Amino acid sequence: MPRRLTQGPLVLATHNPGKVREVGALIEPFGLEVRSAAELGLIEPVEDGADFAANAEIKARAAAAASGLAALADDSGLAVAALGGAPGIYSARWAGEPRDFARAMERVHAELEALGGGDDRAKFVCALALCWPDGHCETVEGEVRGRITWPPRGEKGFGYDPMFIADGESLTFGEMDPDAKHAISHRADAFRKLVARCLGPG
Ligand code: IMP
Repeated sequence: MPRRLTQGPLVLATHNPGKVREVGALIEPFGLEVRSAAELGLIEPVEDGADFAANAEIKARAAAAASGLAALADDSGLAVAALGGAPGIYSARWAGEPRDFARAMERVHAELEALGGGDDRAKFVCALALCWPDGHCETVEGEVRGRITWPPRGEKGFGYDPMFIADGESLTFGEMDPDAKHAISHRADAFRKLVARCLGPG
């Protein structure tokens, strides 16, 4: 039996203001009081898990243990089939420091070209982990399948959005209106699974 979250406050285990906003808006209809990790002064753990789910659990478990509250964390990225799932959990790191996603997209393109460029299949993946202070976690994973296009198109999204076209679409995520992207995104898919498992009326 999955554990359900019946009362807040809930900590959003991220220091990224964009994620706090996006996940906060998804949580709002459930009437749970939400706190951010930054607001509570929580430190960010080292994300050394082997996959998206492990990294989401590392972040949520650390925030729950430090705050004594239930915590929700997200870990996401782009997985390119011909590159064996890269950049995957290293999606943010491929952009270097400070983050430069034009460079990260160039690298994806260059590595695909080096392989002949025949297979352009890719997916965005999002793991969401909801953990309690006693260490119990409920973790779900969502995805959206599509393909890589070059050159990148569109200014509306972030990260790798300008080089990704979801199956059945003709616009890149960077060209789509945010509402249209959010309706089909990996994060929306993961969140629907989390709601069915842990939030709202059981
Ligand atoms: P995280 O903060 O470690 O989960 O890193 C996620 C990284 O994956 C982001 O920095 C983006 O590069 C990439 N990513 C995740 N979701 C999306 C998306 O919806 N569009 C574009 N890039 C994304």
